[in-house]
Amino acid sequence: MHGITRKDRRAVLVAGGSGFIGSHLVDRLLQRTDLERLVVVDNLWTGSRQNLAHFDDPRLSLEVESAEIFATSQRFDEIIHLASPASPRWYMSDPARTIRANISGAFNLLGLLKPGGRFCFSSTSEVYGDPLVSPQPESYRGSVDCTGPRSSYDESKRCTEALLFETQRTQGLDVRVVRLFNVYGPRTRIDDGRAISNFISQALTTGVLTVYGDGLQSRSWGYVDDIVDGLERFFWRDNISYRGPLNIGNDYEVPVLEIAKFICSLVPGSSIVHHEPVPQDPTNRCPDLTLAKRILPGWEAATGYRDGIRQTLEWFQSQLAAPAAAQA
Ligand code: UDP
Repeated sequence: MHGITRKDRRAVLVAGGSGFIGSHLVDRLLQRTDLERLVVVDNLWTGSRQNLAHFDDPRLSLEVESAEIFATSQRFDEIIHLASPASPRWYMSDPARTIRANISGAFNLLGLLKPGGRFCFSSTSEVYGDPLVSPQPESYRGSVDCTGPRSSYDESKRCTEALLFETQRTQGLDVRVVRLFNVYGPRTRIDDGRAISNFISQALTTGVLTVYGDGLQSRSWGYVDDIVDGLERFFWRDNISYRGPLNIGNDYEVPVLEIAKFICSLVPGSSIVHHEPVPQDPTNRCPDLTLAKRILPGWEAATGYRDGIRQTLEWFQSQLAAPAAAQA
């Protein structure tokens, strides 16, 4: 703790810190020498205790509670709000809960911030809807159906962005907002349902990968380590005055079918079956990273999908083997 005075030591809250991206962020936060205490607030809807099980750090505590109702007399220097399901399967299963987690979560957490504290929020590329321009710059206002099947997620992220930027404008809130594009990697739930994790768990279990529609719809797949590098730099490490929104993702766009075929090539005996297309499934999505490259010089999501998927597959194999090993 050389050079860090008591007043510099930070109390940080991460809502959604037991989740996929949240727990990777907790890894990075615990490396900070100025961190005094780290409170993870997570209701374990899509998060998991297991994601934090490898930590043995007295500064870290887990509060099993929803972000929108968590109460404490403590106040925090930094709050990072990631408390939301991100997989369509999960957010569509309980849209009201998804809306509450994002919007009411933000309202409640804002009340726990010390005056002058920083509030960081993970918004989404879904604010661009089914985009009519590609790649999508932050200035693109999007093509979202506010009553469509994705609306609970898209619109609650958009509304939370509005809340935060308007609080910044009227009250000077120190805010940082990122828009994450598709992220995959270790610690995704086996039953998460998003494309890469679903294809991998299907390849390892039933052997049948379900591609919705013709699979020519495309996404830009970001490996979690690269994405969290960007978050760490933007949320606390670099000295940045820009508040966001900032696109964070990989800008190499790949069709879903190509991803499925690659996973089949890694798991002998697996095959693809096409299902009905999903209503309002965006046809494409790709970040314009011009701003990210200016704000975070040297940062890029450099891991190609082949390497990232190989690493994710290894992790899923270890997870699926674990219960059997425990029983043995
Ligand atoms: N997808 C698919 N099969 C699956 C899961 C997803 O074909 O088992 C497709 C989905 O229809 C979409 C793309 O993969 O076109 C990415 O879906 P995901 O749920 O990962 O994220 P989204 O970008 O749609 O939120």
